[in-house]
Amino acid sequence: MGKIILVVLGLLLVYWILRSYRRRVGRSDLRPQPGAGEDMVQCAQCGVHLPRSESITTQGGFYCSAEHQRQHQSH
Ligand SMILES: [Zn+2]
Repeated sequence: MGKIILVVLGLLLVYWILRSYRRRVGRSDLRPQPGAGEDMVQCAQCGVHLPRSESITTQGGFYCSAEHQRQHQSH
């Protein structure tokens, strides 16, 4: 009897892992692709264009990285 419960628990665990894995994959598919209809912004430090969701947004503008944000604000 105890063995059956272990098997059932094992199957439930596998099912749960597969379900959460599939959900993670589905979610990444829903993410907007960079450059596909997304707002492009320009780094205030180096001028590179990048999707708004990947930029660092401050009151002063957009930056491609925290490094450039620091460089720009230290001037
Ligand atoms: Zn930059």
